[in-house]
Amino acid sequence: MTPVNHAVEIRDLHKRFGKLEVLKGIDFAVDPGQVVCVIGPSGSGKSTLLRCVNLLEQPTSGRVVVHGVELTDRDVDIDAARRGIGMVFQQFNLFPHMTVLQNVMISQRRVLKRGKAEAERIARENLDKVGIGEKCDAYPVQLSGGQQQRVAIARALAMSPALMLFDEPTSALDPELVGDVLTVMRKLAEEGMTMLVVTHEMAFARDVADRVVFMDGGVIVEDGPAEQVIGAPRHERTKTFLSRVL
Ligand code: ADP
Ligand code: MG
Repeated sequence: MTPVNHAVEIRDLHKRFGKLEVLKGIDFAVDPGQVVCVIGPSGSGKSTLLRCVNLLEQPTSGRVVVHGVELTDRDVDIDAARRGIGMVFQQFNLFPHMTVLQNVMISQRRVLKRGKAEAERIARENLDKVGIGEKCDAYPVQLSGGQQQRVAIARALAMSPALMLFDEPTSALDPELVGDVLTVMRKLAEEGMTMLVVTHEMAFARDVADRVVFMDGGVIVEDGPAEQVIGAPRHERTKTFLSRVL
């Protein structure tokens, strides 16, 4: 039994797709209540890393432990373990034929087997929390990208996760809609949610993250406090990356 001191613990994680080794030995941990932002160039393995944390991708080798449960253990109940992990993608992936409220209720009903009234109450609470309460009966196509992404966040939160993974949640949004989504994420962070966030929003990372991890070429080049990694990077590769995005 692994002691439950880290929310996420990753040890010597490798992932290959055929001959391509995408993750080349990743080690890091996230403590409960921490916000860790992952930054790095396109193709460096950020999404693959996040997808290995909830086993959307099967790691080639290494250990992934979430809240004391080793997901890379063959005997683990992966569906049960995944229930505690919420994920928000760049594309919102809402069901187009369902209303906002139905989108936020469906997994609660099917996966958690919550009753209709309870699922609806929790859906409304979370939609209010992300500022979309008045759009319950709208369909996704009637919402802006920023509103759709906030519904996707509410949908993840409605599953009562202990960990939230975000993969470039604002990258598909028009610039004027980015702020609303980041505000919701900031609020979540302030409430103590444990978050692992892949983002290009350096101001967000600098203000909100407890730690920033810089990845390049499938390895972690630098991992430290946000003000150090973004404000005073030690490695040449980090400096070069930041000079391009800042
Ligand atoms: P990032 O999110 O940092 O842009 P990714 O994790 O998406 O990087 O991808 C890292 C590398 O892995 C890229 O070269 C990408 O083409 C490759 N890759 C990602 N997913 C797959 C897959 N399912 N099959 C083959 N190659 C993949
Ligand atoms: Mg990616």
